Amino acid sequence: MKIISVIKLFAMATLTGYIASLNGAEKIATEPFNNVTIFAETSYDITPVLEKLTALETVSYKIVGDMVYVYATGVPNHKSPYFIDTQWEKEKYVDNTSRGFHLNPNRIETQDYEFRIPLHPKESRVKRATNMGPMGIAINGVPFFNQYAAGGAALTREIRSFDQYNGHPTARGNYHYHIEPTYLTDEYGSEAFLGLLLDGFPVYGPMEKGTAVDGDRLDEYHGHFGVTADFPNGIYHYHITPDAPYINGDGFFGNPGTVSN
Ligand SMILES: [Zn+2]
Ligand SMILES: [Zn+2]
Repeated sequence: MKIISVIKLFAMATLTGYIASLNGAEKIATEPFNNVTIFAETSYDITPVLEKLTALETVSYKIVGDMVYVYATGVPNHKSPYFIDTQWEKEKYVDNTSRGFHLNPNRIETQDYEFRIPLHPKESRVKRATNMGPMGIAINGVPFFNQYAAGGAALTREIRSFDQYNGHPTARGNYHYHIEPTYLTDEYGSEAFLGLLLDGFPVYGPMEKGTAVDGDRLDEYHGHFGVTADFPNGIYHYHITPDAPYINGDGFFGNPGTVSN
């Protein structure tokens, strides 16, 4: 590990000569280079999407050092049957108890989220599993949750309780999306920027350049590097796809920030 961190200081062009001259480095020099993980250490600047992330009055942000603090109520800007018996019932309740839908006993409540997200995300050497609870924030201030129900179970049963826009609340009233937030993809398009995960990398919809994103072309974290409308020079980004794991795969590509509520 020490040697790798020394190596990363040097450009690939000078790597061979450097290793050859490094005292006692024969063992490394005889190993093929593809056995040595060299991190690009590229960091990105997510400033271009901060205005989109905080377009609604229920979401705001400030920059603190190298972090973005995002504040949100977590109350969706769309209708939901989970508003019944709440202060928003008249305005936002809609009865969509379609066949197979199972209204859970929870109701949406105002939250007081503070997401602390890297302003300059970069790949993390150690990929951390996503946490239960908020692992990111959508552009309407609603958190993204991962692909698991409580106890690490599959979402199979929970999916029945997703409303017409694929969200539902926890017992503490935290409304959230585990899968595609269809209100947002209807509103902004299937290729749109939809939010950030806690590691600062952006989340995009299920389409790219006019075609559905093939999950096989995403890495194990459910993302890839490429140009997007917001980042013409390219950035690592996640895609939401129709099948599991939906938003994130085996963990955060970058180093995750934190969230409090
Ligand atoms: Zn859930
Ligand atoms: Zn992409």
